[in-house]
Amino acid sequence: MKYLFGPVNSRRLGLSQGIDLLPAKICTYDCIYCEVGITTLLTCERSEYTPTTEIIAEIDDLIEKDPTINADVFTITASGEPTLHSGLGQIIRHIKTRTSKPVVVLTNGSLFPDPEVRQELMAADIVMPSLDSALTASFNSINRPAACCKNLPEIIKGIRLFNDEFKGELWLEILLAAGINDTNADITALNKAVQEINPDRVQLNTVIRPPAESFAQPLTLEQMEHIAGQFERPVEIIVDFVKKDQGNFSPFAEDKVLAMLKRRPCTKPDICEALNINPSSAHKFLTDLERKGRIKGMNHYGKRYYQTKN
Ligand code: SF4
Repeated sequence: MKYLFGPVNSRRLGLSQGIDLLPAKICTYDCIYCEVGITTLLTCERSEYTPTTEIIAEIDDLIEKDPTINADVFTITASGEPTLHSGLGQIIRHIKTRTSKPVVVLTNGSLFPDPEVRQELMAADIVMPSLDSALTASFNSINRPAACCKNLPEIIKGIRLFNDEFKGELWLEILLAAGINDTNADITALNKAVQEINPDRVQLNTVIRPPAESFAQPLTLEQMEHIAGQFERPVEIIVDFVKKDQGNFSPFAEDKVLAMLKRRPCTKPDICEALNINPSSAHKFLTDLERKGRIKGMNHYGKRYYQTKN
């Protein structure tokens, strides 16, 4: 598969079937914290960077081989910014005709001022734009946008206009880097922008994985919690390393575990492998479900199996 990857376990989305729309690091931004590295093509130009027909053919192939799809969601992402791909709308709509699985789009939000981009995204179920700053100076420092993409008030307005009409869920992600976009003035401006956009969820992140620039440093958990408390609406902290005990939480995983155990008894390693979750998460799910009386455990030839209760 050239464009499809996974499914991978995502703490926010469950088991996610990834679709990468771009062949290289092509982006409207060159974020200092980017995990993919430095942007090789900094642009706002939408184009068919990879053939839409080839991406659709891979999706069809996957669905034909396994109509049940071993994933909770389809997630459209990219090695850069997926809304730069001009076939985005066609790809989302095609997935929706082939499966009832939710379609999620991860985006930096920079092209939301474009009505065509907003229209194409309307077909998705969950759209997750990022907004790391509502102050132009910090925005330029953390996201290093292309010259064609520097109008931050227009970007915020574009996200708001999209959400005003969008029937699905909008989850806004804010990534904070120490000393770059975390001042009181930054948080006050972000809070105002969040109120204007009115997202379904707000998720706060920091620099966890190796960043493009070594000066991009994470905040501590205490700093994140303090900042989360400054927003007028609930803010989730989605940093994996600081809350390992909550790692791999997924709103879809419990149903997925129950669906598996309904069909046949499974061991903990079976569940870890099938759902791509780590042993401690699987242990937590199983213990919780057993305590709630939804499943029962039994020993068989030295192995412990779990099954749903009839
Ligand atoms: S928007 Fe995303 S892909 Fe683009 S540079 Fe920033 S983190 Fe990397």
